Amino acid sequence: MNPSKNQTVLAFMAHPDDAEFLCAGTLIRLAESGWKVHIATVACGDCGTTTETPRSIAARRTKEAATAAAMISATHHCLGERDGFVVYDKPTLQNSYDLFRRITPSLVFTHAAKDYMIDHEITSLLARAASFLYAAPNVSAFPLREGSCVPHLYYCDPVDAIDPLGKLVEPTTLVNITDQLEKKTEMLACHASQREWLRAHHGTDEYIDSMHRHATMRGKQMGVAAAEAFVQHMGHAYPHDDLLAGLFGE
Ligand SMILES: [Zn+2]
Repeated sequence: MNPSKNQTVLAFMAHPDDAEFLCAGTLIRLAESGWKVHIATVACGDCGTTTETPRSIAARRTKEAATAAAMISATHHCLGERDGFVVYDKPTLQNSYDLFRRITPSLVFTHAAKDYMIDHEITSLLARAASFLYAAPNVSAFPLREGSCVPHLYYCDPVDAIDPLGKLVEPTTLVNITDQLEKKTEMLACHASQREWLRAHHGTDEYIDSMHRHATMRGKQMGVAAAEAFVQHMGHAYPHDDLLAGLFGE
């Protein structure tokens, strides 16, 4: 199989709801174009509560993430790490290689290399490592599937589009998600446990509002109502053509 014919995208993120905030609009567009979509989180969301036990909130959030993924017929995965304990070690690398091996992505989204939270930065490194090596025969015991390759790798915006020093990130690629914003909002709203406590805390629907502000800000840069921003990884051996611009460029 020509690797470019393997239309499989994996969003490899740290926590439940990260994909919905940062790349769900583009995932919706890919799903609409016939791509197979997978959404994985390294951690299970066990710190996203002020009242529940880790086990109970993790179970609730896993269900919320699976419900959001199902809205675009995507498959949901979780590596089962704990919030705040995502580390770059041998077991987590092996789990990442194995997951990539089973999914065989030709396109990968992950967190920005520099973000507000270390779980995001380590997840970004894991995605980079697994993208580079998953197609190497000896890296995983799972069978090497047809279409395995070094995928196109894109970093999503960091949260609020700024790096940890407050600098606005300059994207390489903007994707117009104006027509997908409503569905993206519905996917994000599946994470009711997070929306509720933020709404109680802020007195406004900050969970949804912050996503809309971000999409509007990136949309203005390309003269549309809403957009998502990406930075393409351009290291050795990675595809250098801008796949997203080729698919959705205007
Ligand atoms: Zn996160």
